[in-house]
Amino acid sequence: MEIESWWLLAIPLFFGLGWFAARLDLRSGGARPRGQLPEAYFRGLNFLLNEQPDKAIDAFVDVVRLDPETVELHFALGNLFRRRGETDRAIRVHLNLVERRDLDAQQREHALFELGQDYLKAGLLDRAEDAFNRLEGSRYAAAALHHRLELAQMVRDWPLAIGHAERLERDCGERHGRDIAHYRCEMAAAALAQGTPEGRAAARREIAAASAADPAHPRPPLLAGELALAEDDPAGAIAAWEPLVRESPSFLALAAGDWLAAHAAVGRFDAGLAALERVQAEHPAVDTFAAIADALARERGQEEALAWARAGLERQPSLLALERLLALHAPLADEARRGDIELMQRVVQPQARRLARYVCRHCGFKARQFYWQCPGCSRWDTYAPKRTEEIERG
Ligand SMILES: [Zn+2]
Repeated sequence: MEIESWWLLAIPLFFGLGWFAARLDLRSGGARPRGQLPEAYFRGLNFLLNEQPDKAIDAFVDVVRLDPETVELHFALGNLFRRRGETDRAIRVHLNLVERRDLDAQQREHALFELGQDYLKAGLLDRAEDAFNRLEGSRYAAAALHHRLELAQMVRDWPLAIGHAERLERDCGERHGRDIAHYRCEMAAAALAQGTPEGRAAARREIAAASAADPAHPRPPLLAGELALAEDDPAGAIAAWEPLVRESPSFLALAAGDWLAAHAAVGRFDAGLAALERVQAEHPAVDTFAAIADALARERGQEEALAWARAGLERQPSLLALERLLALHAPLADEARRGDIELMQRVVQPQARRLARYVCRHCGFKARQFYWQCPGCSRWDTYAPKRTEEIERG
């Protein structure tokens, strides 16, 4: 069995506990000669050094049974159980400590904090929340508040998450502006999805609050544009997106199609196209490429769209762009060549689908749609507005 790296860390810990247990013996004047450790302790240490963590744990459990007053050893064991994923045993050890009447308040709070983490790891979210809530006012309050924030995010209770994040800012001097902006945007997106005037009014309030929490973040202006479109206000949408052109141009790719449609709706297609092409020259994105090709086909005809796409593909060879080009080409080709083009499409499509995904920078989770919060690791802002092909190209 290969030794896990954390066991290497555990060994000095148990040496330390040995010293602690010896001190206890000295103080309590137990049956053993002075300074002598329980035999099971050495057995456990021996198993640990021989890379037999299961037997080591059994031996340390014996020590704890024989010497119930070795509180620190209980804590160490509970944590080892949790790290090994044996949350049932970790919960039993920590619950036992919480309920012991002979411990002082600080030790019981420590046990409660560990118990909360056991429940969290076991997925018992209600119990975890209860344990962390009970630590209000203790020296574990700030650490517990971080876990409460994590829990609020897990159950998507955004108002509660905002409250916790604001308290961490106020009481602990931490910065959570970006998190708060995301929580508000989540509320705005949900309100917008209701499709009612009340929902849109609520979305507007949350978007404004999100912008105030993190003025440089691209998500609030993107949502503000979406809201304006839902209100049939293309000029308002353009005004909402305009700051992105200067501040976060690469994120305009997420709204490129709507950007062009909104400009066409207010009779400014050429200006919108020119602005988007300038962004595309600096931050090439296949979504923008596709949006421009589609809009050109719609506004100026298939021939012009095809010529534009061909020139773009020559400048920047790309399988995803080639797939787009073939789709534009197929209806224009004569009978004889259409068969070839459709064959090429069938060859290119599976590869293109593989390269068209977004990738989390933190955990590598791949997704067809863009996420502000990774479904794999729950971190915010770990997706770039670029497809795998563009990321691999660098
Ligand atoms: Zn991730």
